[in-house]
Amino acid sequence: MDEKRKELLRGIPKIDEVLGLLEKRGTYEKASHEIVREVCRDVVQKLRDNILTVTDKELPAKLSDEQAADAVQKIIDDLHCCKLRRVVNATGVILHTNLGRAPLCPEALERIVEAGRGYSNLEFDLEKGERGLRYDHVSGLIRRLTGAQDALIVNNNAAAVLLVLNTLAEGREAVVSRGELIEIGGEFRIPDVMAKSRTILREVGTTNRTRLSDYEKAIGPDTGVILKVHTSNYRIVGFTEEADLASLVALGKKNNIPVFDDLGSGCLINLDEYGLEHEPTVREALATDVDVVTFSGDKLLGGPQAGIIVGKKDVIARIKKNPLNRALRIDKFTLAALEATLMHYLVPAKAPAALRPLKALTEPLADVKKRARKLMAKLRRADIAGLTFELKEAPSAAGGGSLPMQNIPSAVVCVRSANMTPARLEAGLRRAPVPVIVRVDEKEILIDLRTVTEAEFVFIADGLKLVAAS
Ligand SMILES: *Cc1c(COP(=O)(O)O)cnc(C)c1O
Repeated sequence: MDEKRKELLRGIPKIDEVLGLLEKRGTYEKASHEIVREVCRDVVQKLRDNILTVTDKELPAKLSDEQAADAVQKIIDDLHCCKLRRVVNATGVILHTNLGRAPLCPEALERIVEAGRGYSNLEFDLEKGERGLRYDHVSGLIRRLTGAQDALIVNNNAAAVLLVLNTLAEGREAVVSRGELIEIGGEFRIPDVMAKSRTILREVGTTNRTRLSDYEKAIGPDTGVILKVHTSNYRIVGFTEEADLASLVALGKKNNIPVFDDLGSGCLINLDEYGLEHEPTVREALATDVDVVTFSGDKLLGGPQAGIIVGKKDVIARIKKNPLNRALRIDKFTLAALEATLMHYLVPAKAPAALRPLKALTEPLADVKKRARKLMAKLRRADIAGLTFELKEAPSAAGGGSLPMQNIPSAVVCVRSANMTPARLEAGLRRAPVPVIVRVDEKEILIDLRTVTEAEFVFIADGLKLVAAS
């Protein structure tokens, strides 16, 4: 080893010296001795590795004890910063899975706080004074809203699919169309979930065409369930054919085989009334007399992450008894939020005003444009050096595997900088104290107002000021 490296190694700060400095600075008020010591060791170890491995040119300067203490202090301070943070979703993707899908309504938030602040009757029947079931709090509401005989809630829809398949067809076959063996994203693939539920995949038909007779031919002594999957995030167009749910239900009845419909989004209102493409509602699915339907709580429904299982009483009873159910159960916060969200659907016409994803989806373009003009006026008034703004029309997307073909016209504020690339603007906004997530174009960034509320304007303005000043 060369002299320079040896010299640097000898000069590495001593851990006890650095800890002494940190104690004087009051660092132990912010983390335990154990944690501070470990961080300190990491900092010193990293420096040592660096000295031993980098090229001559990259060799670091000597680090003083003070500087090492600064480095440790910074890491400890960072542990006190919340990493899961609110962001402004200016992408126009209404149900953005990476951005937490559905924002909750104020009532749901209040109920979460209330349920968390003290004890609750989560599994206690206040009427009888004995042990109750956690699902019972919302199952009455779900039954009224969907016409289901019974309901059960689990962690998310992926869990619901796993649990239903495992209950109805463990070690047996699940008959499903080749056109419905989908990947939702985030590694959720129907065939993989089926394998984990220990059902055997029995594919029928072809990618674009599956007839009722294809299902019929596949049914035999090993059939456990007939499965229909909503092809959430994609559509096959052109020369296509599929067996509708009602005819699958009839086929199931004839052969005494349960039929399961994985609806995905779980829409509870008629979107056609708002000029959108038809999305099958949970009530419509159940009206076919299907045995069981599953859907997400945080897609079009607009509530917390949850998997909602509805259907026939006897089927739900079997699912409730499956030991897997215990592993997939929901917590009290989900229940509290779900209950408050579902109440908005008692008067379906009022739901879009109360639930943000539905509101974003159904809001008339004129209103989105009005908000865009307001934002532009605010940004112009802020007089941020080097930035110019322009209002344009561009489409938004429903996201979250919902309405993939739906053209949702929207209004965007385009921001250009005289001296910054759009990529730099985007990165700057992303790193703002309240991050703003935008779309990037060749020459500008786009702020889509369909997913932005007026209350969030201040974060966009502050973010842009910060970026422009950097
Ligand atoms: C989204 C979706 C799922 C997965 O639901 P999560 O709530 O994200 O777990 C399963 N099936 C279909 C058809 C979906 O659209």
